[in-house]
Parts: sequence; C-alpha cells; structure tokens
Amino acid sequence: MSLDKLSLEEWIQSANEKSVSFADFCVDFQSQQMGVTAEEVITRMEAILSVMAESISAGLKGPRSKGGLVGGDALKLQQYTQSQKKTIMGSFLSKAVAYSLAVGEANAAMGRVVAAPTAGSSGVIPAVLFTLKEEFGLSQPELAKGLIVAGAIGMVIASRASLAGAAGGCQAECGSAGAMAAGAMVSLLGGTPTQAGHAVAITLKNMLGLVCDPVAGLVEVPCVKRNAGAVGQAIVAAGMALAGIESVIPVDEVIDAMESVGQSMHCSLKETAQGGLAVTPTGLALSEKIFGDTK
Ligand code: SF4
Repeated sequence: MSLDKLSLEEWIQSANEKSVSFADFCVDFQSQQMGVTAEEVITRMEAILSVMAESISAGLKGPRSKGGLVGGDALKLQQYTQSQKKTIMGSFLSKAVAYSLAVGEANAAMGRVVAAPTAGSSGVIPAVLFTLKEEFGLSQPELAKGLIVAGAIGMVIASRASLAGAAGGCQAECGSAGAMAAGAMVSLLGGTPTQAGHAVAITLKNMLGLVCDPVAGLVEVPCVKRNAGAVGQAIVAAGMALAGIESVIPVDEVIDAMESVGQSMHCSLKETAQGGLAVTPTGLALSEKIFGDTK
C-alpha cells in the first residue's frame, strides 16, 4: 500500500457516509489491506495486546533501567494511589499514568514492549487501552478494535509527517502516540468518527513542538515521563472531543503543521542528545557518569 499522504479527514467522511463507527471502518480497512477477515485482524491484535499487558505487569514490578536513570516510579504511583481515598489525578488518570510509566520502565530495562508507534513512546497506547478495559469494563475484542483505530491514525501521521524522534522530535513519537490513543479512546467510548478526529487534532496541537532530547542518548530521561504526559494530553483531548468540543484547525492540517515544525526543528533537538535536557549540567554529568569520556 502506498503511504502517499493518507487523509484522516477522508476516512472520517467515509465512515460518516457509511454510518459506521470509526472502529468498524478501521477494522474493515485493515482487513482489506491485510487480505484477511475482520475476525482474523482482531485475533492478531489480541496477540499484540497480550504483549502489551505483559509489559505493564513487568514494569509494575519496578525494574531498574540499564542506564540507571529510571525505574520504580510506576510501582511508586500505584502504591501511592492505592493508599489514598482520593487523589488529584483520580482513579482513571492515576492508573493510566502508572501503566504508561510501567511500560516505559520495562522498555528502559530492555524488557519486551510493543512499539506503538515507537519503543520510546510505547507506554501511551497500552496505558489508555488497559485502563479503559478495567475502568469501563471493555472486552478484549473491543480493545483490539481500539488498537486498530490507533494503528490507522498512526498510518495517516506516518504518511503526512513522521513517527520518529530523529525526524520530527518527540512530538512525532509521544505526540503521535497520544493522538493515536485519544482517537482510540473516543471510538471505544462511543464517540463519532468526527469526534475521534477532533481528539487526534487536539492532542497533536497540544504537543506541537515537543523536542527529542534524551539524556545520555538513552530512552530513559525524559522519555518515560513524557509517556505519562502524553497519556494526560490524550485523556484531556478525548474528554473534550466526547463533549463536542472541536479543533478549529482540521486534523490533516494539524498533522501537516507537525511535519513542518519537525522540519524546522534544529538537529540538536532530534534524538542527537545535543540539546534540550540532554545538555543541562545534570544531563551532561549523567552522561559522563554513564559513558565516561566516550560520550
Ligand atoms: S525524547 Fe526522543 S527518544 Fe525520548 S521518547 Fe521522545 S522522541 Fe523518543
């Protein structure tokens, strides 16, 4: 399949014209692309969901990362939340943030994760999907449909912009993951295709310009907590979209703007560890400590 500029707006329009949910539209599209039945697509996604679930469990055990910069925060948040009657994040956001930290920490500890869309941003989508499952009682096949929606959104972003921090900064990684999660969330909670598009647009708009500046060049700091931030952005955007709040800028134009911002971003802010947090005094000291003179 050609990835020449796909259009989320065209897909949304097509789903609206067919009077189908965006999830069913995306399942049908994916089934045609893969040349298999819709049931088979869902079965394959369920296998991926199993890996995502394992990565959440692994991260909640509190592993330390290879570079030693992250680890144990998912567990810390989970224990704090369970010890409180009420927290400022509430049960949904607390759980989703803990799960996103868990997958990010599992990844940093060289555990097995699903790149969604990348390893660095792998915590966002599983966090949102499994929190939806537990807090809203969604079934595994419904989660699989959510994953297909997220994947479809990611395809459009990849075709019009980028999903790589080295090409577009962290907006392309954690921003895209957040947008994919937001669209999936709206679809799974009964929102219209149009509302899913607004959730994608709002998330990307709120993460536009986010740089990629990994300390010591490791996918640890700020990556793990950026996953948590993207979860928050996705939930905020999905909540607004479900309430009928719209993005003034159409979603395809927002994606194109992200591409343009990524192009303008200096190379020091695109995964080279030459700018941003990576070159703060602490960032440099940590790099020196981990790699000595070679870094
Ligand atoms: S800061 Fe860079 S390496 Fe880390 S998650 Fe973002 S894009 Fe990936």
